[in-house]
Amino acid sequence: MSNLSKDVSDFVGKISKRNPHEPEFMQAVTEVAETIIPFIEDHKKYKDANVLERMCEPERVMMFRVPWVDDQNNVQVNRGFRVQMNSAIGPYKGGLRFHPTVNLSVLKFLAFEQVFKNSLTTLPLGGGKGGSDFDPKGKSDAEVMRFCQSFMTELSKHIGGYTDVPAGDIGVGAREIGFLFGQYKRLNNEFTGVLTGKGLSYGGSLIRTEATGYGLVYFAKEVMDANDDSLEGKVCAVSGSGNVAQYAIEKLIEFGAKPVTVSDSGGCIYDPDGIDTEKLEFIKELKNEKRGRISEYADKYKAAEFHKDITPWNIKVDFAFPCATQNELPLEDAKTLVKNGCKGVFEGANMPTTEEALSYFREQKIFFSPGKASNAGGVATSGLEMSQNAQRISWTRDEVDYRLKMIMRSIHKNCVDYGTGSDGYVDYVKGANIAGFVKVADAMIAQGVV
Ligand code: NDP
Repeated sequence: MSNLSKDVSDFVGKISKRNPHEPEFMQAVTEVAETIIPFIEDHKKYKDANVLERMCEPERVMMFRVPWVDDQNNVQVNRGFRVQMNSAIGPYKGGLRFHPTVNLSVLKFLAFEQVFKNSLTTLPLGGGKGGSDFDPKGKSDAEVMRFCQSFMTELSKHIGGYTDVPAGDIGVGAREIGFLFGQYKRLNNEFTGVLTGKGLSYGGSLIRTEATGYGLVYFAKEVMDANDDSLEGKVCAVSGSGNVAQYAIEKLIEFGAKPVTVSDSGGCIYDPDGIDTEKLEFIKELKNEKRGRISEYADKYKAAEFHKDITPWNIKVDFAFPCATQNELPLEDAKTLVKNGCKGVFEGANMPTTEEALSYFREQKIFFSPGKASNAGGVATSGLEMSQNAQRISWTRDEVDYRLKMIMRSIHKNCVDYGTGSDGYVDYVKGANIAGFVKVADAMIAQGVV
């Protein structure tokens, strides 16, 4: 927070006082305040209505006990959350995360980011986020089901197709969404689009599974097109090996790029030959079916190296796609990337870049797209799933993919419109924050002091 203007540091100080011990939330607020406060200074109506401070306060937060019985008949207890951040432009929308690191600060940061991201998608979606400190890793399917049923028993009181529509996130994939949906239907005796990311046989949308990773690479392609460049032949570092990473790699391969890394919480794989379609299928089966560790990649592909202690950001690459988790790209790694000639960072995860690393990238004026812009394809396609559910129809794969591409194009254009400086450099962080803010702020002002 060292280089903040007085207005920004006063504002951040006030919010921080009200939210002690919430570092992730304050990191997200600070990043937004830095770009929005100078904008508000020039647009008095937002200042007079105190919109930004209102946006920093969730409309509602639920925190609840989730008891469940494990396979050894022991009674376990976890904590469940749902943060309903902002419903100015539509029902709350945002994923559920099951991971031991989940706490109120993490979910408030994610819900806050979600408000801006959902606004950018051009769809009528408010912002929310939820989850639990439950760790699905190492649990049997039956344990995960009992946990999901208990979690939904409470959550179901607070959500609904026109109120709040959760989706997946870290640790919540197709299996968990299925269990959660089954319990909601049982409790409410209605078949409704109350969750997105559903299976295709019960109301899911084609391309939803792929959407975040595909959308990320579509966004990177928009940046390339705007700069007379292309992804063809570019060496790319990708972190994570879950949903976002897998489909980012799939699209990078399709566009002729060469992804050379993947990772998980156990370490990083560097494959100098590049990850091709066959290797990607191995990763998908390993992570989605066998629920194994990424180190097994190096056992199968001998040219690849597994490193327990280094991140993908130490490899010489053209572009970096952080797709694992928050704060996984610190300043030191940012410097290494730039020193090695990396020309762009496209966030697939939410806030994977630390505050210091983000400032460094912007100073260096390399391409940098914040997750709220470049990973918005996932929630956008969730919005498309809601539209299909409401109309009781299913669009074709091509139709959903086309809409996803158009949404990513429009997000990119919005960022350029609001983020281009006098020297022509596009500050995508500033562009995404202002574009996302304006729509929500206008709706809040129109609705009165609510
Ligand atoms: P998954 O659970 O499918 O995969 C997460 C990946 O990140 C796994 O490889 C996991 O490794 C790794 N990871 C998680 N925590 C850590 C950690 N502390 N250190 C190192 N690696 C870690 O999640 P998603 O792919 O869905 O989500 C990834 C990111 O993308 C998150 O930030 C999420 O919020 C964001 N996102 C996801 C969207 C979606 O549609 N799924 C939409 C928009 C954003 P391991 O297997 O060891 O846990």
